[in-house]
Amino acid sequence: MLSRLFRAHGQLCASRPWEVIIGTITLTACLMSMSLFATNDHVCGWNYQCEEVNDVKSSDVIILAITRCLAVMYVYLQFRNLRKLGSKYLLGIAGVFTIFSSFVFSVAVINLVGSDLTGLNEALPFFLLLVDLSKASALARFALSSTSQDEVVDNIGRGMAILGPTITLDAFVETLVIGVGLLSGVKQLEIMCCFGCLSVIANYLAFMTFYPACLALVLELSREKNQGRPCWQLKQLARVLQDEEEEQKPNPVTQRVKIIMSAGLVLVHAHSRWVAASTHHKDDFLLSSKSVSQDLNPDIPLWQFYFQKALAPPLDYSITLSLAAILAVKYVFFDNDPEDVIWQGNSEPIAVIETGSGEEPITQSETKVSSKSSFVEAEDKQVSAEVPEKEDSKAAFIIGDESDSSSSSENDDETPRAARLVETVSVETQTSEGEPQNETPVVTRTLDECVATLRSEAGPNVLTDDEIIQLVKTKHIPAYKLETVLGNHERGISIRRQMLSKSLPAQSALQKLPYTHYDYKYVEGACCENVLGYVPVPVGFAGPLLLDGKLYYVPMATTEGCLIASTNRGCRALSSSGGVHSCLTANGMTRAPVVRFQTAQRASEVKLWMENPDNFALVQDEFNSTSRFARLQKVHIVQSARNLYIRFVVFTGDAMGMNMVSKGAEKALNFLVDTHFPDMEILSLSGNFCTDKKPCAINWLEGRGKSVVCDAIVPASIVTSTLKTTVTALVELNIAKNLMGSAMAGSIGGFNAHAANTVTAIYIATGQDPAQNVCSSNCLTVMEATGTNNEDLYVSCTMPSIEVGTIGGGTVLPPQAACLEMLGVRGAHKECPGENACKLARVVCATVVASELSLMSALAAGHLVRSHLKHNRSVLNMNPNATPALPPSLTPPAPHRKTNEPGTCINRAS
Ligand code: NAP
Repeated sequence: MLSRLFRAHGQLCASRPWEVIIGTITLTACLMSMSLFATNDHVCGWNYQCEEVNDVKSSDVIILAITRCLAVMYVYLQFRNLRKLGSKYLLGIAGVFTIFSSFVFSVAVINLVGSDLTGLNEALPFFLLLVDLSKASALARFALSSTSQDEVVDNIGRGMAILGPTITLDAFVETLVIGVGLLSGVKQLEIMCCFGCLSVIANYLAFMTFYPACLALVLELSREKNQGRPCWQLKQLARVLQDEEEEQKPNPVTQRVKIIMSAGLVLVHAHSRWVAASTHHKDDFLLSSKSVSQDLNPDIPLWQFYFQKALAPPLDYSITLSLAAILAVKYVFFDNDPEDVIWQGNSEPIAVIETGSGEEPITQSETKVSSKSSFVEAEDKQVSAEVPEKEDSKAAFIIGDESDSSSSSENDDETPRAARLVETVSVETQTSEGEPQNETPVVTRTLDECVATLRSEAGPNVLTDDEIIQLVKTKHIPAYKLETVLGNHERGISIRRQMLSKSLPAQSALQKLPYTHYDYKYVEGACCENVLGYVPVPVGFAGPLLLDGKLYYVPMATTEGCLIASTNRGCRALSSSGGVHSCLTANGMTRAPVVRFQTAQRASEVKLWMENPDNFALVQDEFNSTSRFARLQKVHIVQSARNLYIRFVVFTGDAMGMNMVSKGAEKALNFLVDTHFPDMEILSLSGNFCTDKKPCAINWLEGRGKSVVCDAIVPASIVTSTLKTTVTALVELNIAKNLMGSAMAGSIGGFNAHAANTVTAIYIATGQDPAQNVCSSNCLTVMEATGTNNEDLYVSCTMPSIEVGTIGGGTVLPPQAACLEMLGVRGAHKECPGENACKLARVVCATVVASELSLMSALAAGHLVRSHLKHNRSVLNMNPNATPALPPSLTPPAPHRKTNEPGTCINRAS
């Protein structure tokens, strides 16, 4: 409840940043100019009253100077910590913003309650100690993990929901704890504690309103225009921050302790106030702290008064200022530890180096030091083999005994510390595009040091690729989890490629398999494991295709030349004939577990029980409870011996639905076992009666996924002009080939020319499960003469098992989602769940009609071979010098020997 409140508040601030910022600033300005409780005798207004408190003891001055210096160093350390998360400048600006805004708001609040500002300068160090940059960065973590502005609002809301209650409680506890100082009776301390309390409150208010609004606004303004992603280094930062999101969740034990502590402190405060009131002590400690003369009226102008004050600061201030200046310079110019190297400038961790020539990254370490496993040696060989010129550009700085380092022991643990590296080698690196990168210092560590570093705060980012590989080989990092452990997909994949390359027949095998510039966050845990990269498949489009009165441009991913050109011709013929019309005849995804009983009789009893509508309703309730969208329609049960095959037929909304149906089926079966049939043995959640991804009759007969029929009438003139054939030729060929020919082949669902071509190309483009082309391509193509004189062509495709979805599976991947977007069916349908998936199924079937029409026409006119040779054969393959016809090992050594006959090498061991 509380979390929801904070989330709504955060979302409000983030979605209306301008309003909140302007509102807060206006309010602050008002607060500064008014005072609720106090007299008009402000001390630090724009007047001559900002006098020093003269009765400060010298011991106090020393203590205050030390406190100020500590405060400055504390802030410096906070900045350094924040820099580990990303750009020092960006977070520095965020930090400065937080301090500045907190200060301004504190002053406004103090002014509102009419408090005397004398002594504020003394309290400033404590004020700095109260500013907690980690809160600001914690909320920034949520905001920065967004990819769109909508997500920013959501994420800020989520951050508020998690951080809000903790921060509120913290502010409450801090106020109470600092408030204890107000009871001390020591005037100076009371003043400081008063400021402290008010600052905590002001900080809290600024954090809850001003900060989220500014964060949302800054991110909106800083987004890359076209991609909607954060610019600067935020992408990397967001990645690191995502991993730490879990850490933001409040610890319930700490929360409880804070609440109990607060209750105690409230009692203490109430008691002391009550005592004070009963003894008629006037609670005027704030006002009494004014030791400033009220009647100053020097003869000099006001600006000169302040200027002189600024030019002649007391000694303790000078010390603090100097320290702050030194630390600022150090922070900006000299703080360059290894973590910084990783983050600065480059958008990728530069532990990964790519060769100038190709895409394959190589290790950047060239170490002369002994601590090498055999793997490291191999790596070094690779380096020297691939980039020999790097020897020249090497600049080694050896700490310790240089001569020792070249002859030190093979064993890490036995190597003396001085000789166990530390060698820093600068390597001139190049990006894959051949651009030189910065010189990169590389530090190589022993295995133990690597393990310690991995577990330390610095983490894997400071380890080199060599070191990471060593950790994988010694099982400190599971190979399949590289991306997760490194918190960096590309680097994880790059290291996996380096390791795998050594086991492949050709070490350069992966060079042409791209892996960079891909959004792997959608892949991880959803689409692929052991990722090596991605295979780009060309995507074209066929269309416009007029379907049910609307034009579609259909994306198709294929490497078969002619396919899209041919489909396009079909689309043209259909669109100029009045278009295709579709009807959806069934819609239900299936999963059929197999269960076993002691006897066939018992299995039969259970079958009858489940077919009873009342009992089915019980099963239906259980099934439907597993999803917001999945709805069990019926069960189709068959018996074989003592086994039952229970085919659950389910509406799955816009999802293709296999996971949804499996989940529901499992729940329904467990319900049956637990409540009615304890003797039922679940053999498998899938009993192949479903049937998924295998040729079968049941999907052809009963349907699976979406069952669609599309038809069209093509006038004879278009058959002749666009398709270059005749109606009679097409009708005859369809009977001879698609009906009789397929029947002779014993086909099930294969009564078509090439439906699978179209289905698969659309499936790959739109992120469907491509293996489901097996049954999705079931299609009966019909061609008949029609019209008053039978001069026109009636064409139709009946496809009973199109298994598609527009949400889930590969549809989340951005390129695939873009193809769905082309059709206007991306994601879930807002008003009517399931509409998008049904529309996609209709498009698939209609495109099949177009491609059937065109291919059949080409066959009827005898054009097929000619056009395939023209459009589907790369000239590269025909050039005898470009690609060897046979693998070199099979090429005859002597010129007089004939090349092996194709097919004769099949059984030869290579
Ligand atoms: P899914 O991504 O597993 O499930 C769909 C999710 O989207 C559900 O969480 C669903 O909510 C949600 N959703 C939101 N709006 C929806 C809407 N309008 N309509 C439907 N769902 C909506 O996708 P799936 O289609 O069930 O499974 C597809 C994946 O299964 C593919 O990756 C495929 O390769 C794979 N697959 C699995 C099997 C198997 O045996 N498990 C077999 C073949 C393929 P709810 O949580 O409320 O349902």
